[in-house]
Amino acid sequence: MSDFNTNEMQQETNIQGIDQVMKRSQSAFLAYRNMKGALRATFLEAIATGIEAIGPALIQQAMEETNLPEARLAGERGRTCNQLRQFAALIREGSWVEARIDTAIPDRAPLPKPDIRKMMAPLGPVVVFGASKFPLAYSTAGVDTASALAAGCTVVLKAHPAHPRTSELVADAIAAAARQTGMPPDTFIHIHAPSFEAGKALVQHPVTKAVGFTGSFSGGKALYDYATQRAEPIPVFAEMGSINPVFILPGALKARSEKVAEQYAASITQSVGQFCTNPGLLVSLQSPELDVFRKQLGEKLAAIAPGTMLHPGIASNFVRNRAKALSQQQVSLVAESKEAPKENQGVSSLASVPASEFINNPVLAEEVFGPYSLLVAASGIQELEAALDKIPGQLTATIIGEDDELATYVGFIQKVANKVGRIIINGVPTGVEVCPAMHHGGPFPATTDSRFTSVGTDAIKRFVRPVSYQNFPDVLLPDELKAGNPMNIWRMVNSEWKKA
Ligand code: NAP
Repeated sequence: MSDFNTNEMQQETNIQGIDQVMKRSQSAFLAYRNMKGALRATFLEAIATGIEAIGPALIQQAMEETNLPEARLAGERGRTCNQLRQFAALIREGSWVEARIDTAIPDRAPLPKPDIRKMMAPLGPVVVFGASKFPLAYSTAGVDTASALAAGCTVVLKAHPAHPRTSELVADAIAAAARQTGMPPDTFIHIHAPSFEAGKALVQHPVTKAVGFTGSFSGGKALYDYATQRAEPIPVFAEMGSINPVFILPGALKARSEKVAEQYAASITQSVGQFCTNPGLLVSLQSPELDVFRKQLGEKLAAIAPGTMLHPGIASNFVRNRAKALSQQQVSLVAESKEAPKENQGVSSLASVPASEFINNPVLAEEVFGPYSLLVAASGIQELEAALDKIPGQLTATIIGEDDELATYVGFIQKVANKVGRIIINGVPTGVEVCPAMHHGGPFPATTDSRFTSVGTDAIKRFVRPVSYQNFPDVLLPDELKAGNPMNIWRMVNSEWKKA
């Protein structure tokens, strides 16, 4: 880790500075990529321990910069450290490299078979954009950084300008962990470069090999476009907007509309609606029960006071996007927080529109980032399906239904599943479990690559590529592919799965 991290990183980095930073990251990569998995695991664990050791000062700093409450930030710190330790466990165990060993058959007719061995290799320097909505779990030592470092990539982290000091505290913990565990200098570089020009220069620098981003659609798409304009295009793993549709079936409304309203009032307003999994769209069939539900949900949302949003830009965007949504034809405001909002606060809101209008107006499927949800009432199953057709790719979708009615909607549920990365039955989309089976991604525009997740240990797959080694002498092979490797992992030997 470089000395860069104390003085230089607290100043803004200009375009020339970015060139230097990326070259240093590239030099570090050549050494870091060869560090053993067990050593990199120790580094990740030391980062987690270092973040915990900052203690209440980290939470205090994050509270001041983000307006998020203490309990939420403490939970996010726990998640951040847990993620780091999960990646450490993954790379220490080792099978994530997907080693395949196809040994030679020299006497095979008509042609001899060569010895071919394959495993995952790190891509190179990764640029990570700190995210405003998760100042810890998706920022400096968040999942993008943790998974890239675990893979053997070096990281240049562009601090989000909404929480620069929080980012510095975490970066200091990473620097200390790197020194303590003997990582190469510049394995992780933290910069302040708050301008779109700087973001573009980072993405387009020739040594950058991949980008991790979480934020707005316009931001993520811009970075993706910069990457495709390069002489050598690179992957941008951008997790962007999502309205996370919730389909409420008639039986559930009959049986438990009050309970569903209670669940959803809490989910829509949790963290002032500033989650990528916030349920921004509720869809159901028009009925007397839906009228009751609309009233119940409206009353519950009206009782929830406005909350201060992450930063003034997010608050003003919320006001503008909400006003735009409410000004669309046939959209009516059902309810909003009784209490008037103060500066930078988001007001809890429920709007309603007939499905016939939703189907014809793409503006209604746009994200309003904040505590807002639109209830769409369909006249029948055909209109419900037509509304589904107009919803673009999403991180999640949820079906609320009674056990006996779910079976009659199997075809519809399959169509919903085609559009999303995660489908939930009888729950809420907010609250993303960090575990190996989680997929947090989805078809465009939810992300720029639906094949990959940004939550859970599979996030490491974004920053690696397979390499085959043909006829390599044992001494030149990576350890994982050597004969007699003591690592207890499954691998394919002569096209059969065997335990090494
Ligand atoms: P953002 O605008 O997407 O920005 C995130 C990062 O990307 C920042 O570092 C920003 O650079 C950079 N960036 C954005 N556009 C860029 C461009 N055209 N070229 C180069 N770099 C670019 O997200 P935000 O700052 O967190 O919030 C802004 C708005 O995005 C919010 O009001 C909200 O509506 C929306 N948002 C949506 C989600 C979601 O999950 N869907 C999450 C967060 C925010 P700078 O550091 O130079 O500003």
